[in-house]
Formats: sequence, C-alpha cells, structure tokens
Amino acid sequence: MSDSRDTVAENAFMEQQAAALLASVGDTLTRVPPALREPSERRLALLLLDGVLHEEEAATRAAVQAFHRERIAAAADDIERTSVAEGARIWKLYNHGFVIRTASVTFAFDLVRGTHVAGGAFAVDDAVMDRLAEACDAMFISHRHGDHADPVVAEAFLSRGKAVVTPPTVWEGETLHERVTHPQRGADTQHSLPIQGGAAELRVVAYPGFHDGHDGLPNNVTLVTTPEGMGFLHTGDQADPRAFTWIDTIAESHQVDVLMPNCWTTDIVRMIHGVRPAVVITGHENEMAHTIDHREPYWLTYERQLGSDRWGGSRHVGYDAPLVLMSWGESFHHSPGG
Ligand SMILES: [Zn+2]
Repeated sequence: MSDSRDTVAENAFMEQQAAALLASVGDTLTRVPPALREPSERRLALLLLDGVLHEEEAATRAAVQAFHRERIAAAADDIERTSVAEGARIWKLYNHGFVIRTASVTFAFDLVRGTHVAGGAFAVDDAVMDRLAEACDAMFISHRHGDHADPVVAEAFLSRGKAVVTPPTVWEGETLHERVTHPQRGADTQHSLPIQGGAAELRVVAYPGFHDGHDGLPNNVTLVTTPEGMGFLHTGDQADPRAFTWIDTIAESHQVDVLMPNCWTTDIVRMIHGVRPAVVITGHENEMAHTIDHREPYWLTYERQLGSDRWGGSRHVGYDAPLVLMSWGESFHHSPGG
C-alpha cells in the first residue's frame, strides 16, 4: 500500500459524487415540492444537500455551480410563465433572495448573482437577472454586504425605471446611490412606494435593524404590504438584540403573512413570537462564500425550530408557525386563510 494520496483521482471522485448526489436532490425536490407539511423524503433531500454543500471545495465544483445556475434560470422561466389569481407565490433564489408575486404586483428582496462566491464561476448570468428585473416592479435590499446587494442587479432594475430601496449606507459615495430610494428607517412610519408608473403602490415599513449588535451596520427589516393587504417581512441580516424593542410588537400593528428571516438571526423563536406570521420561509442557508462553520445548513434551521439551545435560540422553546424550507429556485404558494 502506498501512503501517497492520489489527489487528482480523489478530486475527480468528489466531482462525480457531487454530480450524482445533486442529480438525486434535484429529482426529489422536483417530485416533492415545498408544502406546509413537509414530506420526510423532501427533508432528506435538503439534508443531503447540506452534506454536498459543506464539503470544503464545494463552491468550486462544476456540479455545484451548475446546480445553482440551472435552478435560478429555471426559476426565471417559472416566474415568467406564472400568473397568480389569489394569494401569493414566493420564489426563493440564492442566499436571502426572494421574488414575490400577487395578483397585482411582483417585487424582490436581496437578489444577487453570486459573483462574490468562488471568483465568479458560481454566479448566474447577468441575462437571467435582467429577466428577473423585467418581471418585477421593485427590489428591496437589506444592507450593503455582497451576499445581499449586487450593483449589476440594481442597475438592471433602475435602468427599467423600477425602484431599488435600500438603507442609506448601501453604495454610499457611488453614483448608484442617488438613483436608489432611501425611506426613513423607523418602526412607526409606513411609506408609499409608487410602482408600475404610478398605477399601483406598495406600502413599506423600513424597520431600523442592524447587522449585529457590534458593527453598527444598518440593515433594513422591510415590511411590504401589497394592494391586496398581504404583508411580507424580510429581515436581511438583522441580528442586533436591541431590535426586540420593536420586533416583539410587530404583530400588534401589522399583519405579516410571510416572514423571511435570516436563518441565523439572534433568537429566531422570539422573532417569530413577535411577528406571528402565517408562514415562515427562512433564507441564508448554505451561503457558499461563508466558511463551512458559518454556512448555515438546513439541519440547523430544523434544530432552531425545535428550540435547540445549542445555537443561540430561546432555551428549549421552539416555534409552531409553519416552516416552509426551500432550496435555490423553488417556490411556494401562500393562500391567506387556507
Ligand atoms: Zn448575509
């Protein structure tokens, strides 16, 4: 036996294994779509995905890059051909990105190509983001970090006359900054955002969150209320515990149909108790530019739902709001009251 490792063969094997496992994950997710009651087969597929994506070299593997690009492109196809008669369809894109469509409006949160991952090879084509911008009426960006804010995507919206809404610290000092909308951050102010050339409006609360309790980086926690009266709350990377002064009482003044928290937010259980959403759709799992110890697997989202105290949640207290866990490019239809 030789003790010299054949790293070329090992690497080729890991590429093959990623391709084989991701093909199985993709088949299963297609066959067993997101649902309020998650089938166990689907959960296994997401856990398998965690395993593939937490391998050290995952972001550089051709199969992983193709899995990402193909699923986002398929979501763009799906968004273009889907019309919504009632309720809302919510697509989860890369990291903390979402597109939401109701009967009257379509809007997005934190859409990025993924150019910050693996030197660009992981990213979706600019043309796909152009199609998403074309399909949407406006985009909201939580904060300036590259896994949430992408100037090329913002330009795709702005050049089509569609609003991009951010905290004032995104692209400060750059020409893009003056073309972006900066609503006053505050829990008590609801703004009107005209869309579709003034034919419709979104009502917007830009809650004054921060990335964490230490860096002081403003992060909008954005509540968008549609003309149908449905509320969608996206937290970005809010993790500052001082924000519970207003998070604890959101449900007293606003209806939130769908909460889209960063899965690693400080005390997700307390957040959900404050918001009382009809559905929770977490984001930010498997951000590939994060080191694997902070890449946030799906299994941790399940543990946090159960109230595990190992990961900064409320001690032994979970939440019973329905959790719909999705992978890149998947979608879920939310029907209020049903
Ligand atoms: Zn982030």
